[in-house]
Amino acid sequence: MNKSRIILVLLGGPGAGKGTQAQALMRYLEIPQISTGNLLRAEIKQKTETGCEAEKQISEGKLVSDEIVNRVLGNRVRNGDCRYGWILDGYPRTLNQAVALQSLLRPRDKFVVIEIDVEPELVIERMTSRLTCAGCGSVYNTASVKPLREGVCDKCSSELSRRADDHEEVIRERFRAYRDLTLPLRSYFLRLGVLRNVYGMRPAEEVTLDILSVLDLEGVPVENSVKLV
Ligand SMILES: [Zn+2]
Repeated sequence: MNKSRIILVLLGGPGAGKGTQAQALMRYLEIPQISTGNLLRAEIKQKTETGCEAEKQISEGKLVSDEIVNRVLGNRVRNGDCRYGWILDGYPRTLNQAVALQSLLRPRDKFVVIEIDVEPELVIERMTSRLTCAGCGSVYNTASVKPLREGVCDKCSSELSRRADDHEEVIRERFRAYRDLTLPLRSYFLRLGVLRNVYGMRPAEEVTLDILSVLDLEGVPVENSVKLV
């Protein structure tokens, strides 16, 4: 008998902690996280036919076509480890991909799109006050975890610096890019009735529990839900 699967899409802008949530949800739900970016890199490395096509598009400065990304995903989810579902982070990025994803669904699947909401101003404040040590990788924060001597690492005395992608304008641009990218997808998923929002400016564990309660365990295979009880 076919068991129903959970197909979960995570959406979230900079600082939403999608990666962290995907990791935690993987453990709770015992379904794999699938990154189409990693799949494509593997295909390219193994020089498969699809990999070579993708590499050609990248070398021409294009984005890898929806057709290829969809094909790679379609093949991946036929693996046995996806029999109870999978988690997607970074896919779909276009309406074409969203439609292709839907074509992989079965009637009894639970398909949920979770958008982790953050407050851009708070994320920007947190990220721009971050200092990292080039020597040992320690992380400081000019607002909370200050180094004892300004600009110098407590542990190894190396110079502290802001990462290039921690600069305010860069982060604002990432928020804009996220909004532009997600807008058409959001309205599409909203119309499908599968979009749910979860507030992300809280400890990661709380966000995870919120997502799990949104998933509403009804319809989830018993094997996968037993740990949550
Ligand atoms: Zn250091």
